[in-house]
Amino acid sequence: MQADTIAALAAAAARDIRAELGLRPIINVSGTMTVLGASIMVPQAVAAMAAIAGEFVEMDHLHRAASKVVAQATGGEAGFITASCAGAITLAVAGTLTGDRLLAIERLPDTSGLKNEVLVQIGHLVGYGASLQQTIEMTGARVVTVGTVSGAHAYQLDEAITANTACAVFVVSHMTVQYALLALEDVCRICHAKGVPVIVDAASEYDLRGFLARGADLVVYSGHKFLGGPTTGIVAGRAPLVHAASLQNRGIGRGMKVGKESVAGVMAALQAWMKRDHAAIRLREDAALRLWQACLRQFADLSCECVPDPTGNPLQRLRVRVLPGSRWTARTLADALATGDPPVMVRDYQTDLGYVDLDPCNLHPGEAEIVARQLATRLREPSEITQCGIAPLSRSGECA
Ligand SMILES: *Cc1c(COP(=O)(O)O)cnc(C)c1O
Repeated sequence: MQADTIAALAAAAARDIRAELGLRPIINVSGTMTVLGASIMVPQAVAAMAAIAGEFVEMDHLHRAASKVVAQATGGEAGFITASCAGAITLAVAGTLTGDRLLAIERLPDTSGLKNEVLVQIGHLVGYGASLQQTIEMTGARVVTVGTVSGAHAYQLDEAITANTACAVFVVSHMTVQYALLALEDVCRICHAKGVPVIVDAASEYDLRGFLARGADLVVYSGHKFLGGPTTGIVAGRAPLVHAASLQNRGIGRGMKVGKESVAGVMAALQAWMKRDHAAIRLREDAALRLWQACLRQFADLSCECVPDPTGNPLQRLRVRVLPGSRWTARTLADALATGDPPVMVRDYQTDLGYVDLDPCNLHPGEAEIVARQLATRLREPSEITQCGIAPLSRSGECA
């Protein structure tokens, strides 16, 4: 890297950009949330983006290089980078409608003459700040639901497959119904017997290889969640389907395209992920959980326990439950922390179940201690937070 690039990066890191922009210096113990700026970008991604920003490149060649990195990281035949995981879902689905037929690509969302049904178990029809159904149907396709919110059976998927079925979408997320649905292996077996490709939405999953290994034809990820890359979506899997998704940049994908800086940034993030010291990170995260747990022990109206990630990602969170009789509710506790100084944003999408979670994945050095201090301070305050003058942020509907 050039010396002036390094100097520019160092100067950027020394700036307090949040203060310059009038933004609150929030601490994120919520998780990799789009509404909070996703994740801390890894330095390798920041450096790659800075290094390529001033250069001209042949974008086709850059995309081909990215495809190789995605293939290496995922075990897929090829890969493609787009604007976000939601964009990746739209383009992957669109590719199963059009294949590589350019006129069909130019005509979407008009699907006349194309297969246009997309099978999704109804328990997978999540919202991640936007609805999965809309993300799919932007292509012009129609979602055909399988099963009920209480479960799905193999025959319900099998008999829903018609001559118009373009693909099935399978979601891996804490937001789906977590029981009595068809497993990925079952969905792949039933769909593949009738030549229907299966796309897995694994936006937030650490496992880059498992879903393709278990039979998925395509898998899509967010580049800006656990990977710590720039805001991007990654499509990986079978080469013809990846190619068909990438060709959508000549049609509905144009508004979801990414520039050289995002492609280079997510390539660097993927390469850094393959070398990341996951065990050391886990140790640091677990130390934060122990610190918070020790701090909360003094409050008899709360209980806390470490809970594993619901979809098996290798991390734990601290679940803080408000006990009956407390002057707090999970909601007022979350709001008290979000309006403190500095504001601490907890994982609050299940406050109606009486708890908040503290996620240790996005902390800068020293922030775990600040979170512990804020927990103690806010919990000891005599009156409730609605008096502090700052309206609590409304984050309803945002859980990813
Ligand atoms: C975050 C998320 C998305 C959307 O990802 P973006 O990259 O922000 O578009 C889609 N599906 C699931 C399951 C998610 O968690």
